Amino acid sequence: MSQAKFDDLRGRLAEIADLGKTMALLGWDQHVMMPRKGASIRAEQMATVGRIAHTKFTSAEIGSLLDDLRSWGEQQDYDSFEASLIRVTARDWEKSRQVPADLRAEMSRSAALANQVWIDARANNDFKTFLPVLRKNLDLRKRYIDCFDVKDEPYDIVLDDYERDMTTKEVRRIFDYLKEHQAPLVKEVAARGGNDSKPRDFGFEEQKAFELEVVKAFGFTDDAWRLDPTVHPFASGTGVTDIRITTRYFPDHLGGLFGTMHEFGHGLYERQVDPSLERSPLARGVSLGMHESQSRMWENLVGRARPFWRHFFPRLQELFPTVAGEDVESWYREVNRVEPSLIRVESDEATYNLHIILRFELEQAMLNDEVSLEQLPEEWNSRMFDYLGIEVPNDTEGVLQDVHWSGGSIGYFPTYALGNLISAQIWEKIVADLPDLDASFEQGDFAPLRDWLGEHLHHLGRKYTPGETLERVVGTSQIDPEPYVRYLRSKLADIYGIATTAA
Ligand code: ZN
Repeated sequence: MSQAKFDDLRGRLAEIADLGKTMALLGWDQHVMMPRKGASIRAEQMATVGRIAHTKFTSAEIGSLLDDLRSWGEQQDYDSFEASLIRVTARDWEKSRQVPADLRAEMSRSAALANQVWIDARANNDFKTFLPVLRKNLDLRKRYIDCFDVKDEPYDIVLDDYERDMTTKEVRRIFDYLKEHQAPLVKEVAARGGNDSKPRDFGFEEQKAFELEVVKAFGFTDDAWRLDPTVHPFASGTGVTDIRITTRYFPDHLGGLFGTMHEFGHGLYERQVDPSLERSPLARGVSLGMHESQSRMWENLVGRARPFWRHFFPRLQELFPTVAGEDVESWYREVNRVEPSLIRVESDEATYNLHIILRFELEQAMLNDEVSLEQLPEEWNSRMFDYLGIEVPNDTEGVLQDVHWSGGSIGYFPTYALGNLISAQIWEKIVADLPDLDASFEQGDFAPLRDWLGEHLHHLGRKYTPGETLERVVGTSQIDPEPYVRYLRSKLADIYGIATTAA
């Protein structure tokens, strides 16, 4: 009886998963293939598929199946597919039922409208035109929060949407540590200086060829992956055997390459999810923070490290005359250049988290009405000066730079920094398990890392909570900022000659 009900639930969730992946494919097509004039009809198609999926998922039938299966699920082995599926789905279902459909619809309408306003406001450096739509998005977010039972802080509710079970208090504790220990590193490096960037020239076709060689060495295969150019790179796909990553190419630097390695990390996480979880809500990465740990790992801990370049630098020189006269050591320093800058997405490993802390603090101030929205640009600029020591010349390069608030996504930013921290936490474990990792990278062999990640993390998919998942990988459910700061200090001590231990 219970098995039949479980099969019923499983079948319904499989259909909903198919609709979700259909949405992903429509989205991938929109950003990679679709001609411009397809936009308005595509918006209708995506809204329709999304609505059908949401209605199916929040139905009373799913609720009563979950009710009937609760105690049966608890009798199953905690690690079993059955127990995990019931646990995870029950929580998703309860959460989705809290928010009335008309509020959800209003939020997505408002976000769609605000996006175009934001694009124009950013282009024209005109915060005032963005203000009314930001206010509307914020009011809707507050109404959204009101749908839930706030136990401690309102920000907890939006944070939980992106990083389940994470609390504002916990993020604040972690970020306070970074303010105390990471921010001084940036100042120490600034005082040293002396690692200037050089003007470079990278051919487009050669970049394409080089990036493919890199991701193929990492584990990209033509039968299960695609790599295509787009405006704002992302990773997507329709299942564990169909992974789509995207990139862009710049004429004067290799930012596109690092972006491609980043998206490869996201793609690999999805690629190595246990295939038996396919067509269920468990067949994906567990949280945004964990996902970002994987992308940042391939981008930075692999792609900005010496062993990687010891292998790939000769090939880089073959393809690009602009680096012909360099040695691998000067190139290594060049790709690890630290400099406080205005734009988050272009910032280096040492300053990135500070951009996030600023946003985390402003988001809470907005939700708690501690800052008037008119004052937001000034608040932004003064924090940029406090944390990074730089003056913001205009709002385009300041408060208007990110897309998130135009889409109503408040609570998303912390996951980027948490991802950085988790990547170093996992890395310490990997290096302890695989002492020959550097040597294998120098040989161009990335399989040991890829397989370790598959076996210890990726195959779990979303069977557990983010905390339970982290615990299975590193032995603790707590995100620990210390390994990241340790990693940064030792790298910067090597490159810039700063002290190996804090003063
Ligand atoms: Zn990412």
